[in-house]
Amino acid sequence: MNARAPALAIVAGEAQRADRAVPAGFARNCTMGDTITLLTRPWAFLILREAFFGARRYSQFVRRLAIPRATLAATLAALVDEGLLVAESRGEDTTWKNYRLSDKSRDLFPVFLGFMWFGDKWLGDGLPPLALFHKACGSWFSPRIVWAETGEAVDPRGIAVKLASDYWQRPSVIQPRRRRVPGEGEHPRRRPCSVERLLSIVGDRWTFFILREFFHGNTQFQDFLDNLPISSSILAGRLRYLVSAGFIERGDERARSGYALTRKGLDIYGPMILMKHWGDAWLRDGKRPTMQFVDARNRDERTAVLVCSSCGEAPDPRDVAYRAGYDLEDG
Ligand SMILES: [Zn+2]
Repeated sequence: MNARAPALAIVAGEAQRADRAVPAGFARNCTMGDTITLLTRPWAFLILREAFFGARRYSQFVRRLAIPRATLAATLAALVDEGLLVAESRGEDTTWKNYRLSDKSRDLFPVFLGFMWFGDKWLGDGLPPLALFHKACGSWFSPRIVWAETGEAVDPRGIAVKLASDYWQRPSVIQPRRRRVPGEGEHPRRRPCSVERLLSIVGDRWTFFILREFFHGNTQFQDFLDNLPISSSILAGRLRYLVSAGFIERGDERARSGYALTRKGLDIYGPMILMKHWGDAWLRDGKRPTMQFVDARNRDERTAVLVCSSCGEAPDPRDVAYRAGYDLEDG
């Protein structure tokens, strides 16, 4: 095993992506996984979601989430500590506080909308999608995830990455990413949410790692086995799951074409990139990102943004109203 991360390979062409093969003893270091870990923490995501929907008071969170009071108090305190919520006094004669979004959590809004878009499109299961109204342009809209530089829809095909020297990292220094959204059995749910369902899928460590390999151009069973510290039986099980869930499909076995992302699998790329951008901006203490997306043809940098389908601007949570097939208001 090498003592140091190997020098970065020079990318000779699109066929030889420097990020395709993980060197022995190393793992990928990108903030996508760190953002997933944060979002799949029990309750944290649900509380932020209610804050995006306008909840500010302790009593609103209690009513909307049916969350145990002690759990709510602890989670709100943790979110304030982490800079994701700002606690504000509600007046001189009360100790009650309002909890509002910070810049850090407001920046998560595109991630939230991206997950909602994916969930409503692919995991809706008959649930009525939440209708979104952009007050800034006066239109109902659906979120679109596009490259800021070109306005084209994001697509992993045609994209390569530029790696920084700290991209490959020892697996031991990478945080475990095992947390799941608590299931229905663990807490009562007031509101159907396809975002939660998506988080429970990509919040599974191996499922996330395998999907990420696809985005680095890997498609063969052996590629996954070489790049991930995973046993062949777990890998086979996760691939079967991803096929049955419609994210990937098997190619021609005799032609050794491996697996391919389906339309649904390709669509998850956008929300995942938005998570990476957020993690780069807020979880790296000002350090540069470990990797950047570039156009495979001309190496121009690419940044994903979520925009309103009507006006093309990035919506602010304060400018979005909702209409749901279920009750969003406080009783
Ligand atoms: Zn708009």
